[in-house]
Amino acid sequence: MIQPGKTIGVLGGGQLGRMFAHAAERLGYRVHIYEPMADGPAGEVSAREVNQSYTNVEALTAFVRDCDVVTYEFENIPVEPLWKIENLVPLHPHWSVLETCQNRMREKTWLRKNGFPHVPFAEVEAGDDLAAAIRRVGLPCVVKTADFGYDGKGQIKVSDEASLAKAVAAFARQRCVIEKFIDFKCELSVLVARGSTGEVKVFPVAENIHTRHILDFSIVPARVPDAVRTEAEKLGLAIVEKLNVVGLLAIELFLTDRGEILVNELAPRPHNSGHWSLDACATSQFEQHVRAVCGLPLGDVSILSPSVMVNILGDAWKWQGEELVGDANWAAILAHPRAKLHLYGKKEPRLGRKMGHFTVTAATADAALDLARELKARL
Ligand code: AMP
Repeated sequence: MIQPGKTIGVLGGGQLGRMFAHAAERLGYRVHIYEPMADGPAGEVSAREVNQSYTNVEALTAFVRDCDVVTYEFENIPVEPLWKIENLVPLHPHWSVLETCQNRMREKTWLRKNGFPHVPFAEVEAGDDLAAAIRRVGLPCVVKTADFGYDGKGQIKVSDEASLAKAVAAFARQRCVIEKFIDFKCELSVLVARGSTGEVKVFPVAENIHTRHILDFSIVPARVPDAVRTEAEKLGLAIVEKLNVVGLLAIELFLTDRGEILVNELAPRPHNSGHWSLDACATSQFEQHVRAVCGLPLGDVSILSPSVMVNILGDAWKWQGEELVGDANWAAILAHPRAKLHLYGKKEPRLGRKMGHFTVTAATADAALDLARELKARL
């Protein structure tokens, strides 16, 4: 057990690291952040911040020597430097989990090999005939780069000849996966924590609404039949065991019209679709991640109230064309008794950039969603 008072190192310095640091500091830990870019959201609230490249093994080694355990909040960290620190400090989840989850091709191949339900896909190597591969899969489909994709970046939906040409021009020299376009009923996510002792806890399944590929609303409890919730939880537990995760794993799912649950993506870290847990759950996902990586008993994951989380993008600020002309209407959220505002301290609002979120609670998930939409409109 890594006792409170010890130091947790976090690779990555974004908002997930910031909210992780808040949770860790409340339990008496010191948090050190390793992040290439200065002035990030996490460094600002942590005891120490090192701004060096992830591939600078010397700097990384010096960083971990001051830590008692290390975790990460960002997926696009090269794994080779992590091999070099593995004997110096416990790293949770293990780098092999990161290696599987950070590349769509490896992730999907892993799901297929281990018999987990996933979106059917074809693999395309750099230099292969992408157009021919797209035609073999059939339209509509989604072409995604194998590496470095998130929030819809590195992916193009192909539904006609024009979008096919666009995908070929964008991705012709990259490794890609081509997925069938799934006309899903809804998107769900399940977050599972597993401690170093093997103890596991599953957060209530969330229902997620994306707008332009970016998460817009997360709703708990998900408005799906109990059998779907149970199935999603079982799937989450099985994946976490098979991947041998210590820490949190977020699993994004599609629920199809036929009631099938398909895995879309895995993320071995706290996840945007679990932010509601800060205000509407006995234990937040961030605290649970602290507990899991430090070997503490896991916390209770009961929901205290139906809830909806709304992402706040830079779009919420006042813009005239490309010019920023004013703040968002924070008072609309702050004045409401059932809303909680979280801002990440990012210096520069930009269109499409995640700047914060707010959570509302209500008697039912539907009522919470109505309130969330109303407050978002007033923001
Ligand atoms: P991803 O970055 O793969 O999680 O994709 C971002 C979002 O794009 C997902 O949450 C879905 O809303 C949508 N999306 C991704 N892949 C597919 C697919 N194969 N079929 C339909 N929608 C998709």
